Amino acid sequence: MITELRVCSKCIYDERVPYISFDENGICNYCHQLEKLKEEYGTGSEKGEEAIEKIIEEIKEDGKGKKYDCIVGVSGGTDSSYMLYLAKKWGLRPLAVHYDNTWNSAIATENIRKVLSALDVDLYTYVIDNKESDDIFRSFFLADVAEIEASTDLALAEVMYRAAWKYKVRYVLEGHSFITEGITPVGRNYFDGKYIQSIHKQYGRLPMRTYPLMTFNRFLFWSMFARIRKVRPFWYINYNKEEAREFLEKEYGWKYYGGHHLENRMTAFLHSVYLPNKFNTDMRNNTLSALVRNGKMSRHEALKEYSKPPHVEKDLVEYFKKRLEFTDKEYDEVMSRKPKSWYEYPTYKKRFELLRPLFKILAETNLVPMSFYLKYCFPMKKGK
Ligand SMILES: [Zn+2]
Repeated sequence: MITELRVCSKCIYDERVPYISFDENGICNYCHQLEKLKEEYGTGSEKGEEAIEKIIEEIKEDGKGKKYDCIVGVSGGTDSSYMLYLAKKWGLRPLAVHYDNTWNSAIATENIRKVLSALDVDLYTYVIDNKESDDIFRSFFLADVAEIEASTDLALAEVMYRAAWKYKVRYVLEGHSFITEGITPVGRNYFDGKYIQSIHKQYGRLPMRTYPLMTFNRFLFWSMFARIRKVRPFWYINYNKEEAREFLEKEYGWKYYGGHHLENRMTAFLHSVYLPNKFNTDMRNNTLSALVRNGKMSRHEALKEYSKPPHVEKDLVEYFKKRLEFTDKEYDEVMSRKPKSWYEYPTYKKRFELLRPLFKILAETNLVPMSFYLKYCFPMKKGK
């Protein structure tokens, strides 16, 4: 099936990727976008090294007299664990922050514990009431939208801001790498506080009490008043995920959970069942494409891997149904129903667009991520 689709000549993105286009050499716009970012940030070059050193100095300066000078969000995965190691190596004093959506696997919890104790880093954890967490997940499933994990991503952002505010810290380090993960296509995976609130209000059965909701006002407060900055150090340095993984295993007895997102059962469900079966989307092309672009896997091998169905953990679907209280019939009904898009529900999107000039200034001063400004503050082509 894949061979009939047009595929980028450099990576393995194909026509099914939203807003994809190809140049005269058959190279896709996403490959070009990554090259541009690499140049802009000086990724892995002297320019990048100098830029990140300057940021580290700023963080140290700002953190004088404080217990911690930066926040690192942790999940137990490779990127965030390695980010923590680097922060310590650079002489920073990080506070690790974890948002527990109560679907973590034992591996993730153990990984966090091992790395933190070896690096002597304190942990700030926020645990949501598990019934409430399940009620939000359930609502998103019933709403037929792809962003079933949006509540987790937004909650982690809010909890990191809260921890930063509590300890007067003004820097949040994010373990994101566009080299190893690529950039999510514009128009995909939209989320904000209003989106979560409106879907939960429509489909939820419980009140929202313990969920750390980032409302519009809170978002403005964190970025404009608290002036908490987000930094992505991997955008500047030469970050090699495979080497990072080996290092973590050797140094800390950290465990790799395989490429199947087994660190969290909801993440595993999203990637191996929900997106492929309901949305005809298989996100493995992000990491596989990254491996190909970085010369770690041949295109042929990656395409072969991608044509196989994703690995589904035994009992995962049963676990999902049982926890979220769906009968087989209800589950099958939702899975076969037509998908909906985020723009069919209320969001803050229009407000973000209206305030575009403000967010431009905030993005240029790193008070909101540039990716937020580019993705959220411009009108979007619908469809796909
Ligand atoms: Zn490409």
